[in-house]
Amino acid sequence: MGERRIINRNYVCRLCGKMRRAPAYYVPGAPAAPQCCESAMRTLSYEATVVANRMSGAERIAWLRSGGRVVKAGGRRRWKRAGRSAR
Ligand SMILES: [Zn+2]
Repeated sequence: MGERRIINRNYVCRLCGKMRRAPAYYVPGAPAAPQCCESAMRTLSYEATVVANRMSGAERIAWLRSGGRVVKAGGRRRWKRAGRSAR
């Protein structure tokens, strides 16, 4: 009680591909989005986080540059990156 519940979001740096978990910036009273490479990190949806976690930093940069979209896929890993060589 008293303490504000912290909602965490996953962020990604579109310049170096680094991922980070931090408090959601859009919650009133929360700190601003974390910075990386001297710019604000981008928030990832839950689906995008699942997909991004399976990529290397370099892959994430290319993926974000092409829009960072995900599409539903069958099976347990329910999402995959949209576009490019869809497997
Ligand atoms: Zn960075």
